[in-house]
Amino acid sequence: MQNECQQLNGDTILPIVVHVVYFDAASNVSDQAIKNMIDTLNYEWTGKKGGENMGFSFALAKRDPNGNLTNGIYHVDGSSIPNYATQGAQSVANDPINLGIMNVAPAWNKDKYINIWIVQSNAFSGAGAYLYRTIMIRNVNVVTSGNLTHEMGHFFDLFHTFQGSTTTQCPIDTNPYFDGDKCADTHPHKMADCGSTSCTGSGSIPDVFINYMSYCGSKIFTPDQKDRVFASLSRDERWCLALSDGLIPSNVETEVSVDSIRFLNDLSKPLCDSLGIIQMKVSNSGTKQIDSLKSWLYINDSLIKNITSIESISPYTSKWITLQPTKFEFSGSYNIKLILKKFNSDTVDYKMSNNSLCSDFDIIVKGILVNGVSNPLNAGTITGSQIVSCDERVILTATANNGFTFDHWEDEFGNFITTNNAYSRDINLQLENDQTYYAKFTILTDVNSNNIENNVMIYPNPAHDHLSISFRNQTNFQKITIINSIGSIIQEIDVVNLKDVTIDLKNYVRGNYFLSIIKDKGVYNFKCVIL
Ligand SMILES: [Zn+2]
Repeated sequence: MQNECQQLNGDTILPIVVHVVYFDAASNVSDQAIKNMIDTLNYEWTGKKGGENMGFSFALAKRDPNGNLTNGIYHVDGSSIPNYATQGAQSVANDPINLGIMNVAPAWNKDKYINIWIVQSNAFSGAGAYLYRTIMIRNVNVVTSGNLTHEMGHFFDLFHTFQGSTTTQCPIDTNPYFDGDKCADTHPHKMADCGSTSCTGSGSIPDVFINYMSYCGSKIFTPDQKDRVFASLSRDERWCLALSDGLIPSNVETEVSVDSIRFLNDLSKPLCDSLGIIQMKVSNSGTKQIDSLKSWLYINDSLIKNITSIESISPYTSKWITLQPTKFEFSGSYNIKLILKKFNSDTVDYKMSNNSLCSDFDIIVKGILVNGVSNPLNAGTITGSQIVSCDERVILTATANNGFTFDHWEDEFGNFITTNNAYSRDINLQLENDQTYYAKFTILTDVNSNNIENNVMIYPNPAHDHLSISFRNQTNFQKITIINSIGSIIQEIDVVNLKDVTIDLKNYVRGNYFLSIIKDKGVYNFKCVIL
C-alpha cells in the first residue's frame, strides 16, 4: 500500500545495525570507523557535499529487537565459515559463503532496522546489495566516501545512471521515466564512460558523472532521484523503518507510536450498514504502562472524531485498539489518519513523528432496493419493500384489495416465483443489485356478477367519445372507479342515487380499462375498451 500522506519531518531518522563479520584483527573494523562511515553517509545523503538533500537521515540503533540497549554495531567472528578468509562474500545470493555470513550474523528485523554487513570480499570491489534489503560493504572500503551512499540509493530503489548500458552501447532513453534509471534528469551513459557526451537523451550531462549512482564520482543526487527515494520510503515495507523503535533508548519513560491502521471489516465486501470498524496498532516503547489514550481520527484530511480509549498497554508491548464504528456514506478510496494526542496524562513523548499514521483504503458501501409491486397497481398492497444494506432476510407480503385475489409472485423478467403471498428472500449484499418483484392479482369473479351485469349496462363497449352506464332498477350503487391497464386510477365518480351516468372520454387514451363499481359492501369489476 502506498501511503501518499506520509510526511518527512526533521526527525525522520532510520535505524541502522551494522554486523562486522571478521576473521582476524585487521578485518575487525573498529566502532569508530563504523561511526565515521555513518557520518559520511549522512553528510552525503543530506546534500552537504552537493546535490539534493534527501530529506531524512540515518543513525546507529540504540535498542535491539529485544528492547535492550545497543550501540548498533555487532562484531561477529566469521572465521568458522569455510573459505571466508580467502574468498569472502560472493555476488551470488545463495553462495554457501554468503549463507554462512547470514548464519553467524543473522539480520535483525528488516522492518525495523537497515541491516549492513561489513564483510571480507574478493568478489566485489566496493560493496554489494544483491539481496532484498541487504547491504554488504567490503571491509577495506568502509572508509571510502560515496560507497555506502551508493548502496543506500539501491536500497531505496535507485538504479545506476548507466542502467541498461553495456560497455559499448548506450542505454535506451526513449522515455526517461520508464527507461534506464527511470529518472529524467540523469543523462544516460555507458557504464565505464565518465566524461564523454556520446549518449544522446535527457538529463544533465556533467551532473551524471558526479552522481552517487554512477561509477564515476560521488557528489550529488538529482531531484528526480530524490522523488524516487521518497516514493520508495513511502511504501509500507520501508515506511515501517521510520516508525521503528530502534532509535529509542531502552530507558525512555514515555514513548508511544501508532504503527498500523486496519479495518475489522472484510473490505472486499460491502460494509454492513455503511459502518467501518477501524483498528489502530499502538506500541508502548517506554518503561511506563499506558492506561489511556486520546487520539484524533481524520478521514480525507477532515477531523472526524476525538477518541478516548481506556486500554492498558504494558511496556515494550503493542496492542490493536478498536475504535467506535465510523459511517462511510459512499464507495471510494478513503485516507484514514490517526494522531495520538495524549497518553496517560502526557502530550509529549520521546519521538513525536511516530505519533501519527495514515493509510488509504478502498471502501464499498452499498444499499440495494428490494421492491414489491402490486400488479395491477391498485389490486393489492405490498409490505416489506426496503433498502437493504446488510445481508439479511427480506419478506415481501402481498394482500389483495377488494375485488381482487392474489395469484402469484413474479420477478422482473416475468419468471414465476411462488403462489405463497409471503415471498421470503435472503439478500447477499455482495452479489446482488436492486430488484423488483411483482405480485400478480386477478379480478375477482363475483358469484352474483351475472345478476349485477343484468342490472348494469355499459355501452357502447368498445367506446369512443363517451361511455354510458345505466343502473336500471338498482339504486344502491355508490361509486365507479375507472382504472387503466397498469392499475392507475383515472377517474372516480360518485353515483349514489343515480340511475344513469355518462362519462366524457375525450381525455382518455386508447386502451383497456377496468370499471370497478361499488355496491353496498361488494365490488364488481367490468372491462371496457376505449378506441
Ligand atoms: Zn551499484
